[in-house]
Amino acid sequence: MVDKEKIKCDFCGKSFNSRKQLEQHKQDVHSAANKNNVIIPGKKSFKPSKKVIATIGVGILVVIIVSIGVFSATAPHVPSALTIGGIQCSSFEQLVFHIHSHLDIFVNGKPFTIPAQIGIIPGKCFYWLHTHDESGVIHIESPVSRNYTLGQFFDIWNQKFNNTQLFDNAANGNNTLTVYVNGSKVPSGTNYRDIKLGAHDEIAIVYGTPPSTIPSRYIFAEGL
Ligand SMILES: [Zn+2]
Ligand SMILES: [Zn+2]
Repeated sequence: MVDKEKIKCDFCGKSFNSRKQLEQHKQDVHSAANKNNVIIPGKKSFKPSKKVIATIGVGILVVIIVSIGVFSATAPHVPSALTIGGIQCSSFEQLVFHIHSHLDIFVNGKPFTIPAQIGIIPGKCFYWLHTHDESGVIHIESPVSRNYTLGQFFDIWNQKFNNTQLFDNAANGNNTLTVYVNGSKVPSGTNYRDIKLGAHDEIAIVYGTPPSTIPSRYIFAEGL
């Protein structure tokens, strides 16, 4: 007869009456199929239950969904170092609020060409106020419906403009600076920078000698 004490399971230390019982025990408890049940003495075994796995899975899913939601909801609206006067430069054109104004600038009677791509950093972003071509059309493409101003457009353009200055031209006794909106002269007491960029407005900035005709309206291309 074999000493009872000597038939012990190598894995869990449990004693058995016969080698056959031990083999059966190993088969039942410690076989490959049951390897998660292996008890390492002094260490608690951890077998994640289906419930735990499901909970972790759902948790990860929730984190991913929330992250995507937060990212997509805030990404275009996160102010960055590029933000000018509260107007952001977004990766995509913002079409929630999409209107167009037209700007003419005359310096001593001569039309000044407004450059294309004002407010567009190629391959990077679009300010909510920008130009696509040299037509003078200002695109107001914003994620929120609100008023934008002529001053904000000049800030994005990075050119000087206020009641006494246009680019490097100072307004003085000999050279006046006047702004017209849809042909009407803006009262001199108005801060020109605050002039609203309204849908289909024709804005004319006139420095020095005026042109023979002040434009009072602009024919926008279809769809603008
Ligand atoms: Zn655009
Ligand atoms: Zn547009």
